[in-house]
Amino acid sequence: MSSILAVCPGTFDPFTNGHLDILERASKVFPQMIVAVAAKPDKVPLFTVEERLEIIRDAVRGMEGIRVDAFHALLVDYVKAQGASVVIRGLRAISDFEYEFQMALMNRRIAEDIEAVFLMPHEAYTYLSSRLVKEVALLGGTVKGLVSPLVERMLREKYDQYKSGRL
Ligand code: ADP
Repeated sequence: MSSILAVCPGTFDPFTNGHLDILERASKVFPQMIVAVAAKPDKVPLFTVEERLEIIRDAVRGMEGIRVDAFHALLVDYVKAQGASVVIRGLRAISDFEYEFQMALMNRRIAEDIEAVFLMPHEAYTYLSSRLVKEVALLGGTVKGLVSPLVERMLREKYDQYKSGRL
């Protein structure tokens, strides 16, 4: 078995069953992984970093070899600081490819020894994105089966805050 440590970075706002599908596939190749929540200053997330960490910790409970963390730095610097050498990303469709390709090559330019590995989710998740989940949930639609029960519940709370003007 590989002893390589892999990092799965993302905004995870919120973590969906598509993200989980990628983690489950990745864990077959990389038994040691860190799921790293990007606290990007340029994005205004619906969920705080703490909420996103709580959601992911709940989702990966029972999966071995997975640590959940947040990072504020440049991804490659974070990856190196953790002693990891692989970055895992999910590819849903051609539309993901261009951005992922650019980012992988930029990261390689900064840190040549870090490899990017791309995995494809089950086809049921190819249309699923955190953005769409938020849109549907904040308009009062159901996202059952697309996110965990905890995320469903937390989205309903955000929806209530949104409706009452507190969000
Ligand atoms: P980012 O803002 O870094 O793209 P996301 O949370 O949107 O963060 O995505 C994190 C990673 O998970 C990305 O590689 C993205 O392509 C992948 N991903 C997101 N949704 C899915 C999905 N439904 N199936 C497979 N991969 C996904």
